[in-house]
Amino acid sequence: MTASDPAPADSSATNPTSPAPTPEVIFLGTGTSVGVPAIGCECDVCQSTDPHNNRTRCSILIRLPEGNLLIDTPPDLRTQLLREKVKLVHAVLFTHEHADHIYGLDDLRLFPFRLGRPVPLYCRADVEARIRTSYDYAFSQREQTHAGSRPQLEILSINNDDPFEVLGVRVTPVPLKHGPHFEVLGFRMGDFAYCTDTNHISETSMDRLRGLDTLVLDALRFTPHPTHFNIDEALEVIEELKPRQAFLTHLGHDIDHGPVEASLPDHVHLAYDGLRLPMPSIA
Ligand SMILES: [Zn+2]
Ligand SMILES: [Zn+2]
Ligand SMILES: [Zn+2]
Repeated sequence: MTASDPAPADSSATNPTSPAPTPEVIFLGTGTSVGVPAIGCECDVCQSTDPHNNRTRCSILIRLPEGNLLIDTPPDLRTQLLREKVKLVHAVLFTHEHADHIYGLDDLRLFPFRLGRPVPLYCRADVEARIRTSYDYAFSQREQTHAGSRPQLEILSINNDDPFEVLGVRVTPVPLKHGPHFEVLGFRMGDFAYCTDTNHISETSMDRLRGLDTLVLDALRFTPHPTHFNIDEALEVIEELKPRQAFLTHLGHDIDHGPVEASLPDHVHLAYDGLRLPMPSIA
């Protein structure tokens, strides 16, 4: 199937989540692939009592007038949605196939009952192949034993270059390099863009990221990494693109929120779990 706009969300009493009056971005998770604290790590950040240093795996939710748009389904998805009191997800965009971005997909299984249709998943062919392999039971032809015995999902194909519409919003894909073996999609909606899991952005993609109000960008740690920007590399990209403000995400346990936030330029911030940004110009 090709990408298309799913039916507008039902905002009647049967829909437990009323549409957002103003579009808003909620950071569900801002941590690297193993999360912070890392299991068994006794470093200062992993032992920190600052809640900003508690980072679940990366995802954002964009509350739109027509519904809730999720980017990625990390393994922490259930606890993230409960924490932020998000009762319904109307559509999902996927950045790439890595485990920390897709292995919470089964947590969507309640939503088809409330939507009255499968959850639309927008992804590239490589991500679709990974989802169909990893979640083969969701696509089984075997008769269901009972309603909801497997997740009801609808995969909608997107590609590197063609903008598409989701929940009334035009989304521009932004291909990003993620080390030597993987390519990721960033997404631009209006003057907001979300670009996680990257260590190189081509000139073509940089051109899709000019004139932003808000850029969310990968920055794993201070030292170089083969598949992620470090803080200095992310700051160089931000310096070139000149968004009004930028937020760094996919943060590892090298990043102690308080002192690092204080050291950044005034218009650059560390994202943290639970951060909410009003984004009136998205929709
Ligand atoms: Zn990741
Ligand atoms: Zn640690
Ligand atoms: Zn990744």
